[in-house]
Amino acid sequence: MSLTGQLMEAVIKRNPNEPEFHQAVKEVLESLEPVIERHPEYVQAGILERIVEPERVIMFRVPWVDDNGKVQVNRGFRVQFNSAIGPYKGGIRFHPSVYLGIIKFLGFEQIFKNSLTGLPIGGGKGGSDFDPKGKSDNEIMRFCQSFMAELYRHIGADVDVPAGDIGVGAREIGYMYGMYKKLTGLYEGVLTGKGLTYGGSLARKEATGYGLCYFVDEMIKAKGKSFKGATVISSGSGNVSIYATEKVYQLGGKVVAMSDSNGYIYDPNGVNLDTVKRIKEVERKRISEYVKYHPQATYTEGCSGIWSVKCDIALPNATQNEINKEAAEMLVKNGCWAVGEGANMPSTPEAIEVFLKNKVLFAPAKAANAGGVATSALEMSQNSLRMSWTFEEVDAKLKDIMVNIYKNASSAAKEYGYEDNLVVGANIAGFKKVAEAMMAQGIV
Ligand code: NDP
Repeated sequence: MSLTGQLMEAVIKRNPNEPEFHQAVKEVLESLEPVIERHPEYVQAGILERIVEPERVIMFRVPWVDDNGKVQVNRGFRVQFNSAIGPYKGGIRFHPSVYLGIIKFLGFEQIFKNSLTGLPIGGGKGGSDFDPKGKSDNEIMRFCQSFMAELYRHIGADVDVPAGDIGVGAREIGYMYGMYKKLTGLYEGVLTGKGLTYGGSLARKEATGYGLCYFVDEMIKAKGKSFKGATVISSGSGNVSIYATEKVYQLGGKVVAMSDSNGYIYDPNGVNLDTVKRIKEVERKRISEYVKYHPQATYTEGCSGIWSVKCDIALPNATQNEINKEAAEMLVKNGCWAVGEGANMPSTPEAIEVFLKNKVLFAPAKAANAGGVATSALEMSQNSLRMSWTFEEVDAKLKDIMVNIYKNASSAAKEYGYEDNLVVGANIAGFKKVAEAMMAQGIV
């Protein structure tokens, strides 16, 4: 058995019942086989064995009192995966499906994604099985405060800098920041995705979605195609999906379908983004409300049906494993020619195989959604400098970063004989910088 195969077996044995973590590690290890062949020194130094093991895992109780006076208990996590190239950096997810395996898969992916940005940030991720849906503002605040009452002792502007993710937006970051400041007395850039009045960066809110489109645009331009006139699906209707949709319109495409975990809307005229923003960002309601304002649109129960809508470009922007083999086959059959992953690991390995076999231009999450964390790192820089850059300055830096990530992933793929395979290219390009830093720093 190959070295990476043996290591994969050991990872499964040592981390039982964590299928998402196994899936993420397997994809990376398989991509790295040609690198290991060329660099026996990485094997000698145990780089692979060390990179699949988090530097630190923190799990904690998060007790809070709901509006009926009942005590609730959730579980909190922070996985500090790898600090070879900078302080840990990665979002916090609040969703009932969160358990250690999800946070480990996300933290592991984050190592390579952060490296791809070219900025000095290590990999980490956190979260809780808390479900923000249907909670009052006061309940959200009490939960965030309790979460931070433990987390604060493990993070810091030069130690570990969390951000948002599913279920964690500006409101939650604000409550957590307030508590951190109260407990430590420090006014520092310890969280990113902050509000603009207290250290947030312009264009951070838009960054993941915009960055995704910059990346996809670069990838399809290389093949003589463009967003102009393209029909697009953007699953989910949260932060990433909304701002990806905004950029698709700016680039001349039309988004015809969006979703949430209950179902999806189809609007043949093109989804009206103002309506979606109002429903999701202001009223915090379900996507099904959309059809009340746009009678030509339809709403269908069940979120997975969205992949049966005919499109040129699919942007899975909701959650992990939302596109399985059948969904991928349906997309291909309906003429989809490009896929850009805004969510983390939204395509199963079988779905990716279908895309690659059918020559669908495929932008993997690690590379394509790195714009969020890249702009978070720009927020950290602005906080350290005690300065604020304009929207245009941040957006221009973001675009440069995404174009560079595309170039690096694409040339790494070519260098190792996998031309046009950006999955392999992104894994290799992200890995090499971290591996070199780990080599230089000795066995730690
Ligand atoms: P939000 O919470 O803002 O939105 C998530 C969206 O996805 C919602 O519409 C939600 O619907 C839907 N969704 C969540 N879970 C499921 C599920 N199990 N099945 C179907 N739909 C689901 O999160 P973000 O937009 O921030 O994150 C979306 C994805 O992008 C995640 O994979 C995240 O890790 C990734 N990402 C986010 C970054 C960021 O900067 N925010 C950066 C890089 C990656 P509902 O409201 O019904 O739950």
